[in-house]
Amino acid sequence: MSIIEELKTRRRFLKTLAGGIIAPLAGGALLTRTATVIAADNPHLKEDDPAAKQLNYKHDASQVDSSKYESGQKCDNCRYFKGNEGDEWGPCTIFPGKSVNGAGWCSSYSAK
Ligand code: SF4
Repeated sequence: MSIIEELKTRRRFLKTLAGGIIAPLAGGALLTRTATVIAADNPHLKEDDPAAKQLNYKHDASQVDSSKYESGQKCDNCRYFKGNEGDEWGPCTIFPGKSVNGAGWCSSYSAK
């Protein structure tokens, strides 16, 4: 292999290596930005919102006074929560256009 061919091979290797590192970082940054935009677009659901009151929604599941509530149930492990487990706030399909607290709960809870 000539020196020129060897340099071309090394350049190709370095380009591939850089693409393998940069692409996942860019993808992670995009997901973070998307989650931030979604959270910013959806104002927090208020506990005194009529729809929230109807479904006994609370920001803190430990404050729930309902015979339906079972320990360990909270928004971030509910099938209707569209954030990720551990997110402080996230969208919920039961309350469109609003964010619910990840530690919250309502009587529509359904385990993932
Ligand atoms: S439906 Fe699930 S995620 Fe939405 S408020 Fe009720 S418990 Fe939380």
